[in-house]
Amino acid sequence: MSITGNYDHYHRSGSTGSGGPDRPERCVCCVRTMKWFPVLFIVSVIGWSYYAFVVQLSFFTVTSVVQRILFLLFYHLILVMFLWSYYQTVFTDIGRVPSRFRVPRSELDRLLRATSEEEQKQILEAFAKELPIVTRTLNASVRFCEKCRLIKPDRAHHCSVCGVCVLKLDHHCPWVNNCINFTNYKYFILFLGYALLYCLYIAFTTVMYMEMIWSVSGREGKVDGRFHILFLFFVSLMFAISLVSLFGYHCYLVLLNRTTLESFRTPIFRYGGPDKNGFSLGKLNNFQEVFGDDRKLWFVPVYTSLGDGMVYPVHASHLTAPVIAPASPGGLTPAVSSEFSASTRITMMTNKDEDNLMGENGGLGREDQHEYKPNGNHLLYQQPQLNGPYRTRPEDIV
Ligand SMILES: [Zn+2]
Ligand SMILES: [Zn+2]
Repeated sequence: MSITGNYDHYHRSGSTGSGGPDRPERCVCCVRTMKWFPVLFIVSVIGWSYYAFVVQLSFFTVTSVVQRILFLLFYHLILVMFLWSYYQTVFTDIGRVPSRFRVPRSELDRLLRATSEEEQKQILEAFAKELPIVTRTLNASVRFCEKCRLIKPDRAHHCSVCGVCVLKLDHHCPWVNNCINFTNYKYFILFLGYALLYCLYIAFTTVMYMEMIWSVSGREGKVDGRFHILFLFFVSLMFAISLVSLFGYHCYLVLLNRTTLESFRTPIFRYGGPDKNGFSLGKLNNFQEVFGDDRKLWFVPVYTSLGDGMVYPVHASHLTAPVIAPASPGGLTPAVSSEFSASTRITMMTNKDEDNLMGENGGLGREDQHEYKPNGNHLLYQQPQLNGPYRTRPEDIV
């Protein structure tokens, strides 16, 4: 995986160190191995829960054959979906920024030679003219990653753990040893959902037998089994409680079309300034951005998310400079629709970043230009300055 390459890069480009040429390689190996520990922990807990539920509860405790079959049937159904979505979350490659966003050597040299922030800003702005980006930093400059030496697409951020810029980065999750990003966000939410279902199912089924397994007649001579089931109940309950809040929070974010990063740092648009709801298309459309159009596949961990991870639909007010003009009822231009339509979906941009070239200080915010008040309505639009319409749904491509 490219993670290795990035670590290699950092070691080559960083301090040479005093431990000899092999030492950094060994450290990289150790770090990479340690990153898998949380995943191994989860897999171990699942493995133990399988033994406790299937062997100790279903075979040794449940006496009714019909009930045993039903218990095992639903258990395995949930388990398969849970493990499938977990696998997809862990092993799906992160969304990488295409090479066209990379700033060429000649432009980098010009940036280094630039004598003022304003000049750097202009160089980046000129290079980004052909790119589908509508977000800016706090000081209104194009978002640039010094480490990757590229212009960040809208909603992309640099992951310090993976060492690369990642499309629509939500966060880096140690429990899956992967970035939660554009490519696996659906899998991650399904993983949380099925994990919660798995824990609740186990908690409810084990609690039904709690009294029986603690009676002397119910579990004569099988003390170990009793403890397995008892721990199974408490562990599943504990995980269920922690998963409820995490799953609920991400459902909330999906319905608002907002990433975890964006919930803490409001995206700043070139036109319109900061707007927490700048990417929101209405709840159903927001849901479909992640889960796709096909209802049959919504809850199956296969790839159905809309878009390419670089271009996102945004409110039309974020695509052009504010124009004072007679407005239609409601203050929106004529192409307003409260129901976002597939025919004209496009892009937007995100907020400040840790690693932009210009830094965050001293620049003027664009709050004074922030005229758009989110009201749930979104415009149908196309991005005029781009080479062509950037659309996010397959059926839009004509
Ligand atoms: Zn980067
Ligand atoms: Zn990462």
